[in-house]
Amino acid sequence: MTDCLFCKIVSGDVPAKIVRETGRVVAFRDINPQAPTHVLVIPRDHHPNAGALAAADAGLLGEVMTEAHQVAVDEGVADSGYRVVFNTGSGAGQTVFHVHAHVLGGRGLNWPPG
Ligand code: 5GP
Ligand code: ZN
Repeated sequence: MTDCLFCKIVSGDVPAKIVRETGRVVAFRDINPQAPTHVLVIPRDHHPNAGALAAADAGLLGEVMTEAHQVAVDEGVADSGYRVVFNTGSGAGQTVFHVHAHVLGGRGLNWPPG
């Protein structure tokens, strides 16, 4: 989608600090990190949210989760603990409507989240 920020990161039209990439998935640092590790993991293909991705390509959603775990391993937070969040819908705080997994770690994370 031409007017999608994360599609522009995938295409290279918007710069990002990419930490991992595969043929179908890209992981890059959040521009406004909420924890020492805050990485966004996205499919290269445009899907608006996690539910839409699950319905369209459950295997690709699995690849996003696999890469999210690999980010946690690479960042050294897999053993201490990390959180994967898909904000889904504006009421849940989604602001970019290209599905993305937030990978958060490197500090204590409260439960329940706000
Ligand atoms: P959401 O609120 O949709 O769950 O998450 C969107 C995330 O994208 C936010 O955490 C926000 O900081 C991040 N973000 C917004 N614009 C940019 C950008 O241009 N580059 C990067 N790397 N992250 C962005
Ligand atoms: Zn997109």
